[in-house]
Amino acid sequence: MSYLNLIERLRIPTYDNEEYATTGRVRIDHEKCNGCGMCAMICPGNALYIAGEGKNKKAYLEKDFPQCMSCNNCAAICERDAIIVNVTYDFGYFYKILHRGEMKPPRKF
Ligand code: SF4
Ligand code: SF4
Repeated sequence: MSYLNLIERLRIPTYDNEEYATTGRVRIDHEKCNGCGMCAMICPGNALYIAGEGKNKKAYLEKDFPQCMSCNNCAAICERDAIIVNVTYDFGYFYKILHRGEMKPPRKF
């Protein structure tokens, strides 16, 4: 068992710091995406945006440290199955990593 030293105890890791956390990443299939915007609307991390005009309107993940926590809401709401969450978020530093099993698409209701 390892214990935190005094400096570690005084530093509280934060989710929005690249040094402490890896954010989730989604893969968006632009062949399937029609730019409807539902994913961007539902994203709790505000990590998705829609860009382009007409047929070129597509969803994108924010480039710089997106606040994606791999909730899978975007994949669940996309009627065109255009989104897959392919990297889950991870806290680093002294957070304990729990085994979460394999990432799966959300259950359909
Ligand atoms: S919900 Fe699906 S189709 Fe709509 S913008 Fe998002 S990825 Fe594209
Ligand atoms: S997995 Fe969740 S947080 Fe990440 S982009 Fe999709 S809706 Fe947003």
